[in-house]
Amino acid sequence: MNQQGHMASYGQPQPGYQGYQQFAYNQHTAGVPTSQYGPYNGPVQGYEPTAAPQGPLRPTPGAPPTSLPPSTAAQSTAYNQYGQGDIQNGPAMTDQMQRFPVSQSYMPGGQPIAYQQYAPPPSNAQHLPNQMAAMQISGSTSNAPPPISQSYGPPTSHRQTTASFPPTGPAVYTQYSTPLQNISSSIPQAGNPPQQPFSGQTVPASTFTSPPTSTGLTGMNLPPPPGVSRPTAMHAPPLPGQSQTGFPPSQPPTGHYPPQPNHRPAAPQTGVPGVVPGPPTQGFQVHPTQPSQGFIPQQNGSFGQMRAPQPNYAAPYTGTPSYNSQPQPQQKRLDPDSIPSPIQVIEDDKSNRGSEPFSTGVRGQVPPLVTTDFVVKDQGNSSPRFIRCAAYNLPCTSDMAKQCQVPLTAVIKPLATLPADEAPPYIVDHGETGPIRCNRCKAYMCPYMQFIEGGRRFQCAFCSCVTEVPLHYFQHLDHTGKRMDYYDRPELSLGSYEFLATVDYCKNNKIPNPPAFIFMIDVSYNALKSGLVHLLCEELKTLLDYLPREGNAEESAIRVGFVTYNKVLHFYNVKSSLAQPQMMVVSDIADMFVPLLDGFLVNVNESRAVINSLLEQIPEMFGDTRETETVFGPVIQAGLEALKAAECAGKLFIFHSTLPLAEAPGKLKNRDDKKLINTDKEKVLFQPQTNFYNNLAKECVAQGCCVDLFLFPNQYVDVATLGLVTYQTGGSIYKYTYFQAQADGERFLNDLHRDVRKVIGFDSVMRVRTSTGIRATDFFGSFYMSNTTDVELAALDCDKAITVEFKHDDKLNEDNGAQIQCALLYTSCSGQRRLRIHNLSLNCCTQLADLYRNCETDTLINYFVKLAYRGVLSNPTKTVRETLINQSAQILACYRKNCASPSSAGQLILPECMKLLPVYLNCVLKNDVLQPSAEVSTDDRAYTRQLVISMDVAETSVFFYPRLLPVHKMDVDSDDFPVAIRCSEERLSKGGIYLLENGLNLFIWVGMNTQHDLIQSIFNVQSFGQIDSAMSALPMLDNPYSKKLRSMVDMIRAQRPRFMKLIIVKQDDKMEVLFKHFLMEDKSASGGASYVDFLCHMHKEIRQLLS
Ligand SMILES: [Zn+2]
Repeated sequence: MNQQGHMASYGQPQPGYQGYQQFAYNQHTAGVPTSQYGPYNGPVQGYEPTAAPQGPLRPTPGAPPTSLPPSTAAQSTAYNQYGQGDIQNGPAMTDQMQRFPVSQSYMPGGQPIAYQQYAPPPSNAQHLPNQMAAMQISGSTSNAPPPISQSYGPPTSHRQTTASFPPTGPAVYTQYSTPLQNISSSIPQAGNPPQQPFSGQTVPASTFTSPPTSTGLTGMNLPPPPGVSRPTAMHAPPLPGQSQTGFPPSQPPTGHYPPQPNHRPAAPQTGVPGVVPGPPTQGFQVHPTQPSQGFIPQQNGSFGQMRAPQPNYAAPYTGTPSYNSQPQPQQKRLDPDSIPSPIQVIEDDKSNRGSEPFSTGVRGQVPPLVTTDFVVKDQGNSSPRFIRCAAYNLPCTSDMAKQCQVPLTAVIKPLATLPADEAPPYIVDHGETGPIRCNRCKAYMCPYMQFIEGGRRFQCAFCSCVTEVPLHYFQHLDHTGKRMDYYDRPELSLGSYEFLATVDYCKNNKIPNPPAFIFMIDVSYNALKSGLVHLLCEELKTLLDYLPREGNAEESAIRVGFVTYNKVLHFYNVKSSLAQPQMMVVSDIADMFVPLLDGFLVNVNESRAVINSLLEQIPEMFGDTRETETVFGPVIQAGLEALKAAECAGKLFIFHSTLPLAEAPGKLKNRDDKKLINTDKEKVLFQPQTNFYNNLAKECVAQGCCVDLFLFPNQYVDVATLGLVTYQTGGSIYKYTYFQAQADGERFLNDLHRDVRKVIGFDSVMRVRTSTGIRATDFFGSFYMSNTTDVELAALDCDKAITVEFKHDDKLNEDNGAQIQCALLYTSCSGQRRLRIHNLSLNCCTQLADLYRNCETDTLINYFVKLAYRGVLSNPTKTVRETLINQSAQILACYRKNCASPSSAGQLILPECMKLLPVYLNCVLKNDVLQPSAEVSTDDRAYTRQLVISMDVAETSVFFYPRLLPVHKMDVDSDDFPVAIRCSEERLSKGGIYLLENGLNLFIWVGMNTQHDLIQSIFNVQSFGQIDSAMSALPMLDNPYSKKLRSMVDMIRAQRPRFMKLIIVKQDDKMEVLFKHFLMEDKSASGGASYVDFLCHMHKEIRQLLS
């Protein structure tokens, strides 16, 4: 309605700042630690943005109004925190409201038409079209037991993987037969000239020569002494088919390989398996399609734009030799110890950077790796927990950016959980006129704004526009030009903080109502039979005590509602004044409406008895159901309509078991077809089968209706379609295939607990502003966008990250650097409207070497994964894989060409910060989404795709390269974990026990020769043969090994957003193939290359680009 006025109201600075009373900021002096911000800005709201704590949430004063607004039609009016880009998310839905008169007669207090004592299961209940029957549920009247506070383990989850991977043959690890001659291991060694292109810096390159010298890989280029003969591989086990396991050539057979000099390191290589050199070769084959200067520019994200000729790597690797027409180089082995080791990099970073706090005061600093435990001190730039970049030193020009092909990308996690020892963002209140912003670009006040004219005006760091400082915000400057209150105001001295938003930032200029949670439970046959309904209803009785609360509020402002459904929907009136809940059945699912307003969404404490009674009765009511068909679209519609009617944002928790085959809007058919894999039509499997859910998602976003989906399928349910609304509303999806309450209950309940309790912002819009020269051009994650700048999120929780790509629109300069400001406007769980601001400033460079020296591969991979996972919607997976390989090869080739010191072209030289790019990229390429093995279901692929798309850097990092810990080496006297080992079968000892986790899966692998003592200590049985691999929890034994291992499992689970079910795998057991699927450095059952092979392949690609 008043959208115009609304837009104008904060599109322009508000007049009338005069006379506004200045806040009583304490006059602190410089150097005040951030923790002292508490007293400013009035009482700190006690906002607690950390993830759901394990105990009861904190109480807080001042809960916002919870009263239901008059039941006028909810306007899905667009709104926007930014003075541009109107969002129109569909017309207002008034249908349901018009029909309220009908439903009135069924409401409690009225004269129910079809009022009856509940007797038959609702599925047999009689329904009148376009009407509903109200039923008094009179089953057991037991009062709810007092809420029991259960202590839940930290949340996490589990990627469903079919348990039957094809047995792999004997693993082949070290063999490779590409003409790669010199992967010179760049180990600092006495007497070797260090490759030190940049003085005073760590050497940014890792060079690898085939005969590796040691495991420590850090950039030093060994001068390749020709002709040194190498011992043949000594350590590698003899493997079948060695000579046939080469990597498919990346070029069409040409009859000759790009020849290479035959360089090998001179250093003594005792006992290190190396490479048997191939015939010496000289000179490169010049590839006609490769320009000698630079590389064919490729648009990031545009698949299919490949240089020719196509490398045929991307076709699923079959393991068959493909060098037929090429001169077969002599057999060589590349020692896996000689190539860059993820573990080494992770451990080095831990020891180099884990001890000192990371202070964000210096522009363009690369933070420690996500695997390093470090403390962050916010000194004017956001913590890397909120924003991480692939490059911290951006190229000044778009030409440079094109040349290097390094994506300029940031992974932003606006509501990230911080560790207990780091202060959550302070809340700033600029008063009734709202946050101070730049007049032109609307950037929010931040440390980069430059105050001028004695403090009366400030110049925007983003657009350079000069804006008047409102009187109430005026402050004198010190002799350095800094405001005197610099350290007293978070928005002047910190990278991250929150503003209280004014009514101008609210939908329809109205303070929002607190959000609502609606639990929508499938009560069809499968859901009952698996034990789900019973388990869930039992759990909800206590779980509802843990709804998110604002700060120290005594109770949550969130209201709850309940719906059950199969082919029809059952709404429940749980109004506190009722003695028993009432059920209202809506069988006209073609045109969904909500049959009751009053009594549907209630305060848990007020209605506790009625709610508990309902939860008691639901499993009984439907216990005998024979109904197997379900609807799905109308379920979301019902929740959406309920939120509209209540004029609030909220979240639907949908617990669903089957493909919705029943006649209804959004009805689906089984269209699974695995024959499409590796065809041009494969993308169809990832696309929704109907537009219905796209449109529904749009409506949900407009209302701030987030949909969380818990799936319990026994067969194909079309995750790609069912998950769409979840995906576009910022919701979470969980899948428990073949769910049985007994076996999977723990995982489900832990996930549910975390999901219900976690910090979440509703009805959000995120906007990323940048300084002149770059702009955000692309976004990846779970959200909806109706224009090119505003990321609309029905909700955003603490686990969700959004990956942003930036492109040049002008030149940058080294002096100014580049600034990024992310502003998230959201409604808190109590209905408070807030803006969370994150600021980050980056360096800019004119030398590519500076770019390569300040990169982060984990973030780069996060971007690549999301690019690829979006790409599969419109491209064959083969094309997507090729695109990733191609862009990565260009990144590395550009480094080699422009930054590395001159050396033999036969050497693979990698930038130090990117030396893990090949291994991580290979993990991405081999993942089920891009290269499925035969046993991975279509739903699992769609599910993985959806999960990964909103992962942060830490999650993608461990998901694609799992953590593998040697349990038998753990120090029971220390809190530390044993140092991880590389994910390869050859690293496993038959006498060892290993723990593997990737954030979704958790295995303990037991070698058959493990000492009996250790087996006894951990499994409480005497021998390997007696270990029960069906156990899902380790026995609680009173010895240090058992305690330590169980504590490790607990700690690992606590680190991950989803609960991981423990799977015990015995060596040579049938489950072992599942475990081996995660040994990422090995060749995969689906044809994915081993790390060694892939590195050779990348080398070839790079050489091809350089030649
Ligand atoms: Zn500006």
